[in-house]
Amino acid sequence: MRVPSSVVVYSIPLWTRFRGITVRDGVLLRGPAGWGEFSPFWGYDAAESAAWLRAAREAADLGWPVGVRTQIPVNVTVPAVDAATAHRIVTASGGCRTAKVKVAEPGQDVGEEIARLEAVRDALGPGGAIRIDANGAWDVDTALDRLRVLDRAAGGLEYAEQPVATVAELAAVRRATHVLIAADESIRRVEDPLAVVRAEAADIVVLKVQPLGGVRACLELAERVGLPVVVSSALETSIGLAAGIALAAALPDLPYACGLATAQLLTADVVADPLLPVGGSIPVRRPVPDDARLAATAAPAEVHGRWLERLAAVSTVGA
Ligand SMILES: [Mg+2]
Repeated sequence: MRVPSSVVVYSIPLWTRFRGITVRDGVLLRGPAGWGEFSPFWGYDAAESAAWLRAAREAADLGWPVGVRTQIPVNVTVPAVDAATAHRIVTASGGCRTAKVKVAEPGQDVGEEIARLEAVRDALGPGGAIRIDANGAWDVDTALDRLRVLDRAAGGLEYAEQPVATVAELAAVRRATHVLIAADESIRRVEDPLAVVRAEAADIVVLKVQPLGGVRACLELAERVGLPVVVSSALETSIGLAAGIALAAALPDLPYACGLATAQLLTADVVADPLLPVGGSIPVRRPVPDDARLAATAAPAEVHGRWLERLAAVSTVGA
């Protein structure tokens, strides 16, 4: 068994196409405090990726604040799949009582979304919670129309995540619907994450550790925002997910299930004991990479090289 070096590059296929990708890849860094993950999506330039590297360095160099809870309730994530597959994903979710369903997938119509939501409700039963995520794809009129229809199909939506792209549009939608609105991209891909608060554009904020620069940065932001927080992943391996678990464990209040059960979307992991839900919750812990898993998920040479170049470029920008 080889000893892992301090920088490894992984490449892992997904079970289902998700946010336009079929393979997830990224870098794992080892430091004095443990392993961190640096895995900005390929569309992000060096400047935007700097926050992702700060999060990885925090994990590797400092570790995280001690939490106030030992279990994190999580949602199962249902990609833009057909109804039968959606039903199967929820049933096999490890007891999750909340489902997050992707909608507004290019090329799909509202009938497919209705069928997906009905299947998820059937699998969850009446006591479960269903939230949707449109990744900002709708305009205001479409969002209001879809929220009406999909709220009915789901038997009630817990909330709708980023139904429209801009803060002004979010505020307009929120004023015109009874469905709660969560901001995701409007928090993590903007200059001023507090604009959402000033515009009263959201009821809930989604915080992701890597794009927001680390667990401590997220805790500070959560305090300034003053709204309920849902911690979600950036589709990481269990090394990156552990940072989200640490954030969810450290938040003073955690009223909603978190979007951290996404190891289920990967066909493999870099640890022997992935952060997967049991009874709908993930126990708070920090798994370490397993040599055999690192070998099995090692990126091909070309991908490895691209990541090392990227890491160097982002380090230059200033992490
Ligand atoms: Mg989202």
